[in-house]
Amino acid sequence: MSVLAIGAHPDDVDAFCGGTLALLVERGVPVHVAVATGGEGGIPGEEAESARATRLAEGERAAEILGAASFTWLGMHDQKATESPESRATLADLVRRLGADLLITHPPGDYHADHRAVHDLVFAMRIGACAANVGSEPPLRSAPDLAYMDSAQGIGFDPEIWIDVSATIETKWRMLRAHESQRTLGGDTELMPLIESLARFRGDQRGCRYAEAFRGCRSWPTPDGGIRRLVLLTEG
Ligand SMILES: [Zn+2]
Repeated sequence: MSVLAIGAHPDDVDAFCGGTLALLVERGVPVHVAVATGGEGGIPGEEAESARATRLAEGERAAEILGAASFTWLGMHDQKATESPESRATLADLVRRLGADLLITHPPGDYHADHRAVHDLVFAMRIGACAANVGSEPPLRSAPDLAYMDSAQGIGFDPEIWIDVSATIETKWRMLRAHESQRTLGGDTELMPLIESLARFRGDQRGCRYAEAFRGCRSWPTPDGGIRRLVLLTEG
Protein backbone atom coordinates (compact mmCIF):
# COMPACT_ATOMS: atom_id res chain seq x y z
CA MET A 1 0.00 0.00 0.00
CA SER A 2 1.37 3.41 -0.94
CA VAL A 3 -0.07 6.84 -1.63
CA LEU A 4 0.83 9.38 -4.30
CA ALA A 5 -0.40 12.95 -3.86
CA ILE A 6 -0.20 15.03 -7.04
CA GLY A 7 -0.46 18.82 -7.00
CA ALA A 8 -0.20 21.38 -9.78
CA HIS A 9 2.19 23.65 -7.84
CA PRO A 10 4.81 22.93 -5.19
CA ASP A 11 2.59 24.01 -2.22
CA ASP A 12 -0.81 22.58 -3.25
CA VAL A 13 -0.61 19.15 -1.68
CA ASP A 14 0.69 20.60 1.59
CA ALA A 15 -2.11 23.18 1.68
CA PHE A 16 -5.03 20.89 0.89
CA CYS A 17 -4.09 17.51 2.34
CA GLY A 18 -0.80 17.92 4.26
CA GLY A 19 -2.33 16.99 7.62
CA THR A 20 -3.83 13.80 6.22
CA LEU A 21 -0.56 12.85 4.51
CA ALA A 22 1.22 13.36 7.83
CA LEU A 23 -1.31 11.04 9.53
CA LEU A 24 -0.63 8.40 6.87
CA VAL A 25 3.14 8.71 7.37
CA GLU A 26 2.64 8.33 11.16
CA ARG A 27 0.75 5.10 10.46
CA GLY A 28 3.64 3.75 8.39
CA VAL A 29 2.12 4.24 4.94
CA PRO A 30 4.67 5.23 2.26
CA VAL A 31 3.58 8.64 0.95
CA HIS A 32 4.97 10.06 -2.30
CA VAL A 33 4.55 13.64 -3.50
CA ALA A 34 4.55 14.81 -7.13
CA VAL A 35 4.20 18.36 -8.41
CA ALA A 36 3.31 18.98 -12.03
CA THR A 37 4.85 22.44 -12.49
CA GLY A 38 7.81 24.24 -10.97
CA GLY A 39 5.60 27.12 -9.81
CA GLU A 40 7.58 29.48 -12.05
CA GLY A 41 4.83 32.12 -12.01
CA GLY A 42 4.75 32.42 -8.23
CA ILE A 43 7.66 34.77 -7.53
CA PRO A 44 7.20 38.25 -9.04
CA GLY A 45 10.34 39.69 -10.61
CA GLU A 46 12.23 36.40 -10.66
CA GLU A 47 13.31 34.58 -13.85
CA ALA A 48 11.54 31.26 -14.52
CA GLU A 49 14.56 29.07 -13.90
CA SER A 50 15.48 30.74 -10.64
CA ALA A 51 11.85 30.75 -9.42
CA ARG A 52 11.54 27.07 -10.28
CA ALA A 53 14.71 26.22 -8.36
CA THR A 54 13.45 28.14 -5.31
CA ARG A 55 9.98 26.65 -5.38
CA LEU A 56 11.04 23.06 -6.02
CA ALA A 57 13.56 23.35 -3.17
CA GLU A 58 10.74 24.57 -0.91
CA GLY A 59 8.53 21.68 -2.04
CA GLU A 60 11.31 19.22 -1.41
CA ARG A 61 11.92 20.68 2.06
CA ALA A 62 8.19 20.37 2.86
CA ALA A 63 8.24 16.75 1.65
CA GLU A 64 11.19 16.08 3.99
CA ILE A 65 9.27 17.58 6.92
CA LEU A 66 6.34 15.34 6.00
CA GLY A 67 8.58 12.29 5.84
CA ALA A 68 7.61 11.60 2.22
CA ALA A 69 9.20 8.62 0.51
CA SER A 70 9.85 10.64 -2.66
CA PHE A 71 9.31 14.05 -4.27
CA THR A 72 8.99 14.33 -8.06
CA TRP A 73 8.60 17.25 -10.46
CA LEU A 74 6.69 16.17 -13.57
CA GLY A 75 8.57 18.67 -15.76
CA MET A 76 5.76 21.10 -16.58
CA HIS A 77 5.78 24.92 -16.42
CA ASP A 78 3.47 27.10 -14.34
CA GLN A 79 0.33 28.11 -16.28
CA LYS A 80 1.14 25.42 -18.87
CA ALA A 81 0.07 22.19 -17.12
CA THR A 82 -1.60 19.97 -19.69
CA GLU A 83 -3.36 16.66 -20.00
CA SER A 84 -1.82 15.12 -23.11
CA PRO A 85 -0.77 11.65 -24.30
CA GLU A 86 2.82 12.57 -23.29
CA SER A 87 2.02 13.84 -19.78
CA ARG A 88 -0.30 10.86 -19.26
CA ALA A 89 2.51 8.42 -20.15
CA THR A 90 5.00 10.23 -17.87
CA LEU A 91 2.67 10.12 -14.89
CA ALA A 92 1.56 6.55 -15.64
CA ASP A 93 5.20 5.42 -15.52
CA LEU A 94 5.71 7.19 -12.18
CA VAL A 95 2.62 5.53 -10.69
CA ARG A 96 3.78 2.13 -12.00
CA ARG A 97 7.33 2.58 -10.63
CA LEU A 98 6.05 3.67 -7.21
CA GLY A 99 3.31 1.03 -7.13
CA ALA A 100 0.88 3.67 -5.84
CA ASP A 101 -2.52 2.25 -4.84
CA LEU A 102 -4.16 5.51 -3.83
CA LEU A 103 -3.90 8.80 -5.70
CA ILE A 104 -4.94 12.17 -4.29
CA THR A 105 -5.28 15.26 -6.49
CA HIS A 106 -7.26 18.42 -7.27
CA PRO A 107 -11.03 18.19 -7.76
CA PRO A 108 -12.64 18.91 -11.13
CA GLY A 109 -13.64 22.54 -11.66
CA ASP A 110 -11.04 24.03 -9.28
CA TYR A 111 -10.27 27.72 -9.70
CA HIS A 112 -6.81 27.47 -11.32
CA ALA A 113 -6.29 26.29 -14.91
CA ASP A 114 -3.25 24.24 -13.80
CA HIS A 115 -5.30 22.58 -11.03
CA ARG A 116 -7.99 21.65 -13.54
CA ALA A 117 -5.41 20.35 -16.02
CA VAL A 118 -3.76 18.20 -13.35
CA HIS A 119 -7.16 16.85 -12.33
CA ASP A 120 -7.83 15.93 -15.97
CA LEU A 121 -4.36 14.38 -16.27
CA VAL A 122 -4.70 12.19 -13.16
CA PHE A 123 -8.24 11.14 -14.03
CA ALA A 124 -7.21 10.09 -17.56
CA MET A 125 -3.92 8.51 -16.50
CA ARG A 126 -5.65 6.36 -13.86
CA ILE A 127 -7.21 4.24 -16.58
CA GLY A 128 -4.43 4.80 -19.14
CA ALA A 129 -1.88 3.28 -16.75
CA CYS A 130 -3.68 -0.04 -17.15
CA ALA A 131 -3.24 0.02 -20.93
CA ALA A 132 -0.44 -1.71 -22.84
CA ASN A 133 1.91 0.34 -25.02
CA VAL A 134 1.47 3.51 -22.95
CA GLY A 135 4.76 4.75 -21.49
CA SER A 136 7.67 2.41 -20.90
CA GLU A 137 6.66 0.50 -17.75
CA PRO A 138 4.41 -2.59 -17.75
CA PRO A 139 0.69 -1.77 -17.39
CA LEU A 140 -1.04 -1.87 -14.00
CA ARG A 141 -3.38 -4.80 -13.38
CA SER A 142 -6.04 -2.50 -11.90
CA ALA A 143 -6.62 1.22 -11.68
CA PRO A 144 -5.43 2.90 -8.46
CA ASP A 145 -8.08 4.37 -6.17
CA LEU A 146 -8.53 8.13 -6.49
CA ALA A 147 -9.65 10.77 -3.98
CA TYR A 148 -10.00 14.51 -4.49
CA MET A 149 -8.62 16.98 -1.98
CA ASP A 150 -10.31 20.29 -1.14
CA SER A 151 -10.33 23.41 -3.30
CA ALA A 152 -9.09 26.86 -2.27
CA GLN A 153 -11.62 28.36 0.18
CA GLY A 154 -13.70 25.19 -0.28
CA ILE A 155 -15.50 26.81 -3.22
CA GLY A 156 -17.53 24.38 -5.31
CA PHE A 157 -16.24 21.41 -3.31
CA ASP A 158 -18.83 19.05 -1.84
CA PRO A 159 -16.97 16.84 0.68
CA GLU A 160 -17.87 13.23 1.38
CA ILE A 161 -15.43 12.72 4.26
CA TRP A 162 -13.64 14.94 6.75
CA ILE A 163 -10.38 13.68 8.24
CA ASP A 164 -9.54 15.00 11.74
CA VAL A 165 -6.01 16.37 11.39
CA SER A 166 -5.77 18.11 14.76
CA ALA A 167 -2.98 15.70 15.79
CA THR A 168 -0.79 16.52 12.79
CA ILE A 169 -1.66 20.17 12.24
CA GLU A 170 1.72 21.39 13.50
CA THR A 171 3.44 19.25 10.84
CA LYS A 172 1.16 20.79 8.21
CA TRP A 173 2.05 24.32 9.38
CA ARG A 174 5.76 23.47 9.27
CA MET A 175 5.32 22.12 5.73
CA LEU A 176 3.56 25.29 4.66
CA ARG A 177 6.16 27.52 6.31
CA ALA A 178 8.78 25.80 4.12
CA HIS A 179 7.16 27.64 1.18
CA GLU A 180 8.84 30.87 2.24
CA SER A 181 8.39 32.48 -1.21
CA GLN A 182 4.62 31.96 -1.00
CA ARG A 183 4.00 33.71 2.32
CA THR A 184 1.82 36.21 0.45
CA LEU A 185 -0.19 35.27 -2.63
CA GLY A 186 -0.62 38.74 -4.09
CA GLY A 187 -2.49 41.68 -2.59
CA ASP A 188 -3.24 41.22 1.10
CA THR A 189 -3.78 37.45 0.86
CA GLU A 190 -1.47 35.38 3.04
CA LEU A 191 -1.07 31.63 2.56
CA MET A 192 -1.12 30.49 6.19
CA PRO A 193 -4.28 32.33 7.37
CA LEU A 194 -6.08 31.25 4.19
CA ILE A 195 -5.32 27.58 4.78
CA GLU A 196 -5.87 27.80 8.53
CA SER A 197 -9.38 29.19 8.02
CA LEU A 198 -10.15 26.31 5.62
CA ALA A 199 -8.87 23.72 8.12
CA ARG A 200 -10.87 25.37 10.94
CA PHE A 201 -14.02 25.50 8.79
CA ARG A 202 -13.69 21.83 7.85
CA GLY A 203 -12.95 21.08 11.51
CA ASP A 204 -16.20 22.80 12.54
CA GLN A 205 -18.06 20.61 10.06
CA ARG A 206 -16.39 17.46 11.38
CA GLY A 207 -16.75 18.47 15.05
CA CYS A 208 -13.03 18.75 15.80
CA ARG A 209 -10.44 21.52 15.80
CA TYR A 210 -8.88 21.01 12.37
CA ALA A 211 -9.94 18.79 9.47
CA GLU A 212 -9.27 18.23 5.76
CA ALA A 213 -12.08 17.35 3.36
CA PHE A 214 -12.10 14.83 0.50
CA ARG A 215 -14.45 13.25 -1.97
CA GLY A 216 -14.32 10.18 -4.19
CA CYS A 217 -13.79 10.26 -7.95
CA ARG A 218 -17.28 8.80 -8.51
CA SER A 219 -16.07 6.86 -11.50
CA TRP A 220 -15.35 3.32 -12.67
CA PRO A 221 -14.07 0.98 -11.28
CA THR A 222 -13.97 2.20 -7.64
CA PRO A 223 -16.07 5.38 -7.35
CA ASP A 224 -15.59 5.64 -3.58
CA GLY A 225 -12.44 3.51 -3.27
CA GLY A 226 -10.21 6.49 -2.56
CA ILE A 227 -12.22 7.82 0.37
CA ARG A 228 -12.83 4.35 1.82
CA ARG A 229 -9.07 3.77 1.85
CA LEU A 230 -8.41 7.17 3.44
CA VAL A 231 -10.81 6.43 6.29
CA LEU A 232 -9.43 2.91 6.80
CA LEU A 233 -5.82 4.10 6.74
CA THR A 234 -6.30 7.06 9.06
CA GLU A 235 -8.98 5.75 11.44
CA GLY A 236 -9.15 1.98 10.95
ZN1 LIG B 1 -1.80 25.58 -7.04
